[in-house]
Amino acid sequence: MDVVRVPNPIIISTNPATQTPIAEVPCATPDQIEAAMQKARTAQPAWAARPIEERANLLRDIQHQLYHHRQEVVDMVVKEQGKSAHEALLVEVLTSLEILGYFRKTAPKVLKPRRVFAHVLLHRRHVIQHEPHGVVLVISPWNFPVYLSIPPIAAALVAGNTVIFKPSEYATQTSALVSKLIHDAGIPADVFQTINGYGDVGAALIEAHPDKICFTGSERVGRKIATTAGEKLIPVTLELGGKDAALVMDDAQIDRAARDILWAGTVSAGQACASIERVYVMRSVADQLIDKMQHYMDAFIRTGPGTLSTTTYGAITTPFQFKIIQDQLDEAKQSGVQVFEGKHVAEGQFCAPTLVIDPADELKVMREETFGPVIAIQRVDSEAEAIARANNNAYGLTASIWTSNRERGLRIAKQLHVGSVSINDHIMSSQTPEMPWGGVKASGYGRTRGHEGLLEMTVTKSVSYERFPLPFNPLSYPYTSFKRAFLRRFINIRFGPSWRDKIKGQ
Ligand code: NAD
Repeated sequence: MDVVRVPNPIIISTNPATQTPIAEVPCATPDQIEAAMQKARTAQPAWAARPIEERANLLRDIQHQLYHHRQEVVDMVVKEQGKSAHEALLVEVLTSLEILGYFRKTAPKVLKPRRVFAHVLLHRRHVIQHEPHGVVLVISPWNFPVYLSIPPIAAALVAGNTVIFKPSEYATQTSALVSKLIHDAGIPADVFQTINGYGDVGAALIEAHPDKICFTGSERVGRKIATTAGEKLIPVTLELGGKDAALVMDDAQIDRAARDILWAGTVSAGQACASIERVYVMRSVADQLIDKMQHYMDAFIRTGPGTLSTTTYGAITTPFQFKIIQDQLDEAKQSGVQVFEGKHVAEGQFCAPTLVIDPADELKVMREETFGPVIAIQRVDSEAEAIARANNNAYGLTASIWTSNRERGLRIAKQLHVGSVSINDHIMSSQTPEMPWGGVKASGYGRTRGHEGLLEMTVTKSVSYERFPLPFNPLSYPYTSFKRAFLRRFINIRFGPSWRDKIKGQ
């Protein structure tokens, strides 16, 4: 097996709120990577042979494990990711419980073989089967280590794949806890394995040739993975970054828009792929929106350690992300634009909620993913300008439209180049497990969640068999004049545009 040689360093997990080390984890060696792939391959046929109802019931057992250990999960997410306990409970626990329940219920229906009526070759029966890929490699980011890992892991397992899970190097402890819950629920050790390491371990796992890759992470790494997967012809789902826009129309309920846009731009300290980073607001309501957002920023948001009950959102999880946010803000400030920063910010790796008013299009804060609690707001003169500006970005993950007119909202939604759109809400409705999740353009391709997310973990196989035997195969040798005459007649009758054409053929 062609495994890339990787060093064997140690990952030091650190609490971002206090900068204190939590634990040390060794990275996987090349031999361990190779052994994991072998084990996953060997275990897969027996796992796939279990009835789907049995695999679905195991998802219910994972759900129960997560429910019973929810406080441990919250505590670990607070400790390792620096999130507030409220947000850990809301996104990591609640949404993951919902997704497990959804896949448990829907997988047996969505993945069951489906008979189709074929209008030619009527003597045969046609069945569509959804079969597992084999070994699925799930590579996850650090920003929601539970909620972003559970959907592809659960979908892959219930579909009959074995899974190798490569968590982020910034989420080893949370991922170890999630992995323990999965095993304690009864998923066999070789059916679900966790392999720790930096990016080189992720790359080595891909070199070991899994049958499917589900990657959630940055556009930069996504491009590399797509290239390697393309060379090896491994199917891949890419959930990449975003630069999501909110379009605020002149008929929006401004008070509600101000509160909810502020929330969707700063939840989890803005470290959400779908957080609002750009706002295009119609000029007539812009001042009102900005004033209210400023007001709510100070009224509602307190940053600090996630252990404090007063904390709204917590620390920036990684030092490099903290630097990216500061760089983008420095550039915006140097350009002379107006910047409003929230007042209640803790000392350390924390970031104030920040509004950047009318920045130039060229600034990084308008073009590149910030992944921090920074919302750039531009005034626009028309609906068409808002749409054009929202679409004028490399990314296309989600967008929201704020209007009192549903028809208007739906009309705008059609024109936005993104994977999901919500009207008068951002982030909230995209957490629904029934709705497929994924982006377009530099935000990636493929879908997780929803029926589509389940189907991505399968290979569609067409199977056909005889309903009743024919004495001969009309398509096969020998090519006789009788068969040719039959073919001509068949084409005339079936495709002749007029009755004349159809009859002429007789
Ligand atoms: P990242 O791309 O740096 O890392 C993601 C994972 O890939 C990690 O586990 C990392 O170790 C691994 N990795 C790094 N290099 C690799 C390589 N060459 N081969 C294989 N694996 C490799 O991303 P991150 O900083 O952990 O996460 C933040 C990014 O994720 C942001 O851009 C964010 O928008 C994006 N994200 C997207 C979604 C979505 O659903 N679209 C959700 C959450 C986060």
